[in-house]
Amino acid sequence: MTTAVIVGAGPNGLTAAAVLARAGLDVTVLERLDYVGGASASVPAFGDQAIIDLGAAGHPFGATSPAFRALGLEQHGLEWVHADYPMAHPLPGGRAAVLHRDAEQTARELGVDARAWLRLHKPATDDPNGTAESILGPLVRIPSDPLLLARIGVRGAWPATMLAHTIFRSGAAQALFAGSVTHATLPLGYPLTSAFGVAFGGVGHTAGWPFAKGGSQSIVDALARVAELAGARIQTGVDVTDLRDLPDADLILLDVTPHQLARMAGDRIEGPYAKRLRTWKYGPAVSKLDLLLDGPVPWEDERVARAGTVHLGGTMSEIAAAEHAVAVGRMPDEPFVLVTQPTAADPDRAPAGRHILWAYAHVPHAWPGDASAAIERQIERFAPGFRDRILERRPMTPAAMELWNPNLVGGSIGGGTLAGTQQLLRPVLAHPYRVPMPGRVFLCSSSTPPGGGVHGMSGWHAAHAALREIGVHEG
Ligand SMILES: Cc1cc2nc3c(=O)[nH]c(=O)nc-3n(C[C@H](O)[C@H](O)[C@H](O)COP(=O)(O)OP(=O)(O)OC[C@H]3O[C@@H](n4cnc5c(N)ncnc54)[C@H](O)[C@@H]3O)c2cc1C
Repeated sequence: MTTAVIVGAGPNGLTAAAVLARAGLDVTVLERLDYVGGASASVPAFGDQAIIDLGAAGHPFGATSPAFRALGLEQHGLEWVHADYPMAHPLPGGRAAVLHRDAEQTARELGVDARAWLRLHKPATDDPNGTAESILGPLVRIPSDPLLLARIGVRGAWPATMLAHTIFRSGAAQALFAGSVTHATLPLGYPLTSAFGVAFGGVGHTAGWPFAKGGSQSIVDALARVAELAGARIQTGVDVTDLRDLPDADLILLDVTPHQLARMAGDRIEGPYAKRLRTWKYGPAVSKLDLLLDGPVPWEDERVARAGTVHLGGTMSEIAAAEHAVAVGRMPDEPFVLVTQPTAADPDRAPAGRHILWAYAHVPHAWPGDASAAIERQIERFAPGFRDRILERRPMTPAAMELWNPNLVGGSIGGGTLAGTQQLLRPVLAHPYRVPMPGRVFLCSSSTPPGGGVHGMSGWHAAHAALREIGVHEG
């Protein structure tokens, strides 16, 4: 029987395990922590009163993932739950711009920019499946692929700030768009960043930005169940430091990032590929804060309490300045803050009447501080009195993040920045999953196409590349 060993039980490692086990291989997964899930894990917190997501919380691309659909996760305990609105963006002055599932309603509320909003998102809203498949394909599609640009519209190639200044007249539309662009963690004046705004906004209008009921852990638990039902074994508490320590296997798949791979492989990887791994860049980091509240956040615009995700940073120019600062290694006074409100969609995550709030600030790579105070300031700016609702805090600095999960190098969450050549070469252009070293070794983490996010597609494509190499053709 063909054997496979997978190192790392994150969403990509587990997706790869499920694909290979269902193809009939004898699969063993080795995970260093004593639970599965990687950066999609959830834990009981605040004296076991609530379930918080340690990493990912919002799942626009999980809900549209062809891999998750093919593996039938919803038959294994996964349920997507939606807040009333996918996203809201509080604006200076008290009002908020709201991203509704309904593009028309979003546009109507944007007034003078209604037509521009609809036209910009039309390629994504007209063909949601095609757009998702392009974005989550086996090549780095975001945002440089011509096919994706054809789908997203040629304006996806523009720097986001330039596009927003050109097509929108209101600060509300500019800010709503800019907030979605920040998911790229790139300066907003960077070429091709508009594609992220269109992709995230478009998915919001079609699939929404849901949570996983009970926490993001239910996604990875469902993946583990599918893999185990097909015969895979998952061993937790096994930290792999050297690839020579692995049991003999026909295939080895690694859910780790380039620096870790370089260390684990030592001098068995040589030449330009070894250099590529060593010089891999991770980009800005996040500093996270989970809160237990004794009520919903008192947002100035009450509709914001009904949004799953909230983008905090004010106007587009304020956000652009903050994102530029972190990209050049400077901590801004008012960083961009991403908030999710899981209890707006899934009240059972906290005791009756209580709420949990998940937030992170974008900070420079390996920033040594704790952005909790800056996060609270940003929330308080748009929700005066919010601090009085805080019952308990659980901060996680960039250093704590990496200590928890070594894939989060310097507190960076995407497996490697999308700046420079890494937009296209993840880590290399041809055969991105195959590691050129003795044996059949594959990289399957978010450092490979299509990149960061809980969608399992890197694991899916890596597993299929491995099956092709051994001549197994699986649907
Ligand atoms: C704070 C935060 C917020 C995020 N928010 C979102 C979000 O809202 N939506 C979204 O889609 N994505 C989000 N992400 C990104 C998303 O979580 C990641 O892109 C995704 O989890 C990557 O999956 P992966 O399998 O490649 O790696 P990981 O999830 O990092 O899993 C890697 C696994 O490998 C294990 N491992 C590493 N090294 C070894 C070793 N040597 N031996 C054994 N095991 C090892 C780790 O312990 C870990 O379990 C967020 C991430 C973080 C950290």
